[in-house]
Amino acid sequence: MADNRSSDTASSAKGASGKQSKSQGENTASRRNIKSWLTDMDGVLVHENKAIPGAAELINQWREREIPFLVLTNNSIYTPRDLSARLQHSGIEVPEERIWTSALATAAFLRDQAPGSSAFVVGEAGLLTAIHEAGFIMTDTKPDYVVLGETRSYSFEAITKAIRLIRDGARFICTNPDATGPSAEGVLPATGAVAALITEATGRKPYIVGKPNPMMFRSALNKLGVHSDGTGMIGDRMDTDIVAGIEAGMHTVLVLSGIADKSEIESYPFRPKEILASVAELVDK
Ligand SMILES: [Mg+2]
Repeated sequence: MADNRSSDTASSAKGASGKQSKSQGENTASRRNIKSWLTDMDGVLVHENKAIPGAAELINQWREREIPFLVLTNNSIYTPRDLSARLQHSGIEVPEERIWTSALATAAFLRDQAPGSSAFVVGEAGLLTAIHEAGFIMTDTKPDYVVLGETRSYSFEAITKAIRLIRDGARFICTNPDATGPSAEGVLPATGAVAALITEATGRKPYIVGKPNPMMFRSALNKLGVHSDGTGMIGDRMDTDIVAGIEAGMHTVLVLSGIADKSEIESYPFRPKEILASVAELVDK
């Protein structure tokens, strides 16, 4: 196993300077202390619903070895059951209890902050189910919170309601900050864009639970019952996965199978512990 990992180091440090290769080697060595993993989904395990090579094998390896792990996504549209089915369709077997969405993190945050309170929720099944299962009363009459998540059918009526409730004193919570999302036809306005609309109309900014807020990772660690210093975070974005992983105190692994490319990485004032071509390099041959 150790031999295998040192050869990974050599291949992943290709193109980097000698100094970086050395520190990259030391950082790869620290991976041996990792007992549990969090991994981003899009750009790490799947790309446009297609499995990234090595993703299914890595998940199987974790499951066989009973390594605690969670698959994370900022997308609050789907329930873990929906996402498990979508991943299975791509050939990746992730049980629903191994999926942690920004909707679940938001529900966990609210349950911790104010159990049994009330909320007006703008979102889809993933968020509505999570808030409901966290024991919240859903109402449009004097709610304690307005909770905004992703939807594909934003209603002007619901947004108007949210604006009025926030102006009347409801606390404004948002699942994730992403301003746009992908679709086959081009970008779609996403949760962050709608939150900006509500902020303009109310003068109030939301508290955002999803990445890059390390709250998303802390709640995932709590769900697993593990500590940050023995946990690795795999992601494809420097500005969300990696910065939040660093802030949460985890071993960070950037994969180049998604958004980040090597030239972009250099422009950030922080760096991941490891940079790999893809999750295939984490699979023991
Ligand atoms: Mg990603």
